Amino acid sequence: MVIGVSMNIYNYTIKQLEEYFINKNEKKFKAIQVFEWLYRKRVTSFDEMTNIKKDVINYLKEDFKFEEIKLLTRQEDVDVCKFLFQLKDDNKIEAVLMKHDYGNSLCVSSQVGCNMGCKFCESGRLKKIRNLETGEMVLQLLEVEKELNIRVSHVVLMGIGEPFDNYNNVIDFIDIINTDKGIALGSRHITVSTCGIIPKIKEFIKDGKQVNLAISLHASNDELRNKIMPISKVYKLDDLIKTIKEYIKQTNRRVTFEYILLKGINDKKENALELANLLKGMNCYVNLIPYNETSHIEFKKSNQQTILNFYDILKKNNISVTIRREFGKKVSAACGQLRANYKEEL
Ligand code: SAH
Repeated sequence: MVIGVSMNIYNYTIKQLEEYFINKNEKKFKAIQVFEWLYRKRVTSFDEMTNIKKDVINYLKEDFKFEEIKLLTRQEDVDVCKFLFQLKDDNKIEAVLMKHDYGNSLCVSSQVGCNMGCKFCESGRLKKIRNLETGEMVLQLLEVEKELNIRVSHVVLMGIGEPFDNYNNVIDFIDIINTDKGIALGSRHITVSTCGIIPKIKEFIKDGKQVNLAISLHASNDELRNKIMPISKVYKLDDLIKTIKEYIKQTNRRVTFEYILLKGINDKKENALELANLLKGMNCYVNLIPYNETSHIEFKKSNQQTILNFYDILKKNNISVTIRREFGKKVSAACGQLRANYKEEL
């Protein structure tokens, strides 16, 4: 930690706070107490931490601050609520709460903008300005829970940004929401989604986090993938699949492949057969995503029958597959859409 500069308390994992207290010659148990105040009782000042000694409170106040993110707008539909937040440097990010029958799932942003340049994605129209700090991801969850007076049961890192391009902060964020002394979201209720940054997937294997991994695949061969996802020019499909097989072997966990169906681009019968062949025998499942059309991008959603045919081919070829339920058409819930529209209104 930088001496003399007060840091956002929400940036800290329990382990980092333990180290902080050890350096102060205090019992590391204090970190658990602080975590319980922050994430169980949700206090927003150190003075409210009444079981902690005054002198400790005094230096905590010097070393840390409680930052906030400001809610700018909120758009609601039956089963979805979309939030636009303003950060301390006036940048804007989004979070989306989806109400499923199994619980409340929050889609969290990890960066301001995104450099991956996927052709179909609204978020990438704004290049990356900066990574989100860990605390800025934590605050998305705290704010949404406060605002809607609910508890989030699932977190997906599928908002604006590429989580593995902000690896360390994302891992700390997962750690904070997963810690049982705090928010205590189960590992299996947390999903990190990546467009396929291979070195980071390898690091993720080593880190051994028990959270779910989703891969944005969207194409069944390099030629097609290169056209819609520039990242695949750097990390080839074969290498990506090899890495995922290694992940499955090491972790014994099932991987999700996301596949957006884009009309006339990647939704043909041959694409489905090629995809089935690519994933044959892997412990995985495919999540088919009906494309959420956006006014700035020319891609169109495949029609319902094409989606069902694609689904059937995968099923017949023994690939586990689901079709993602569509959320938030009224509230422009696809990545980056709310922020894009808000800008236009200004
Ligand atoms: N960068 C990460 C996470 C953010 S995007 C990743 O690529 O996985 C989360 C998912 O939403 C990705 O699968 C992405 O391809 C998909 N997506 C982006 N724009 C979309 C749109 N307009 N309609 C449907 N899905 C979209």
